[in-house]
Amino acid sequence: MPKEKACKNCKRIYEGNECPICAKKETSETFKGKVEIVNPEKSTLAKELKINKKGIYAIKI
Ligand SMILES: [Zn+2]
Repeated sequence: MPKEKACKNCKRIYEGNECPICAKKETSETFKGKVEIVNPEKSTLAKELKINKKGIYAIKI
């Protein structure tokens, strides 16, 4: 199983070489908490985390 990592820039959790959202390669493997944002326009958590695309994100890096 590939290790999950979180983008340090936008907090997106992904597997692979670069972030699918912002294309940055700086990651953290020690993130805390995971949240799935399904509807970023309606989610207050998404606003707090400054997320505008759906996906799985780390709460804290
Ligand atoms: Zn990113």
